[in-house]
Amino acid sequence: MNDLSQPSANRAVILIVDDELSNVEIIYSALGDDYEISFATSGEEALEVARLTQPDLVLLDVVMPGMQGFEVCQKLKEDPLLSDIPVIFTTGLGDTEDEIRGLSLGAIDYVTKPIQPMILRNRVRNHVELKQLRDHLAVLAVTDALTGLHNRRKLDGLLTNAVRAPASDGTWLSIIMIDVDFFKQFNDAYGHETGDRCLHMVASALSRAVRQASGYTARYGGEEFACVLPGTDLDRAMEVAADIRRHVHQLGIPHVGSQVQPYVTISMGVASAVVEADMQPEMWIRTADEQLYLAKGAGRDQIKGRIFGGDSSL
Ligand code: GH3
Ligand code: MG
Ligand code: MG
Repeated sequence: MNDLSQPSANRAVILIVDDELSNVEIIYSALGDDYEISFATSGEEALEVARLTQPDLVLLDVVMPGMQGFEVCQKLKEDPLLSDIPVIFTTGLGDTEDEIRGLSLGAIDYVTKPIQPMILRNRVRNHVELKQLRDHLAVLAVTDALTGLHNRRKLDGLLTNAVRAPASDGTWLSIIMIDVDFFKQFNDAYGHETGDRCLHMVASALSRAVRQASGYTARYGGEEFACVLPGTDLDRAMEVAADIRRHVHQLGIPHVGSQVQPYVTISMGVASAVVEADMQPEMWIRTADEQLYLAKGAGRDQIKGRIFGGDSSL
């Protein structure tokens, strides 16, 4: 049952925690056909298995030797990587106070033993559906609908992490701001829908180029994109930008309204700095924007970049 080598592709994973193997078996026979099941027979083991399998739901016994169910629930809810996993208590106590305590610790539901398989199956199905819906919404909240790239909110978070993470201190961090050239004219010539398709293609070219550099790519808004490149100095970031430019050229999207090339081009601004305490994420954005502005002024379809220091005023 705890087959960690083969995580399920799309079946939800349920973690059953009960010190009595007979209870585990009853629950397994109620749910085993529909879900991937892992189990643990103590609180300590439950936390370990939860970290390894990242279940979609935990069925948690209250009374166990060693760590009790309430404590397990509390620890799950305190761990940022596990706190979103719904917990259903299973217990023979049937005591209102216990039920209140379990729910106040963040459990989503409570089922009493002896387990009624049909009731358990239905409750589990409802909670798993809600969990999957929540997961889906969480992804949508940080995804740009048109291109499938990260959205600006996600990029701001990634950049902030890259600046604030203690491990980043003293390491290079670069950002590339990217803007499609004469895109208003593109829409005027080909229509908004073709404009949307063009942005989608530019986004794919960007992902391809940046994937090799292990950075993050986002749509920053409109026809602007951004790449965050942790651990990357200016020379390397300029190479990545040149790769992006080449990939976009290779798309060969016709652009009769462009004053630089007969196909779609982009301009880029690159900002690089060694991360120091007290530096603000906005410094990278602002500097890259400045450089992008210079690239536009210098004739578009080109890359400008510079290194800045921690004393750059905002
Ligand atoms: P520049 O070379 O200076 O960047 O000129 P530009 O025309 O690209 O820049 P400008 O900011 O004047 O116009 C941006 C255009 O991008 C205007 C807007 O209609 C278009 N745009 C923004 N978001 C979208 C989108 O989601 N889809 C489409 N089709 N067009 C968009
Ligand atoms: Mg533009
Ligand atoms: Mg723009």
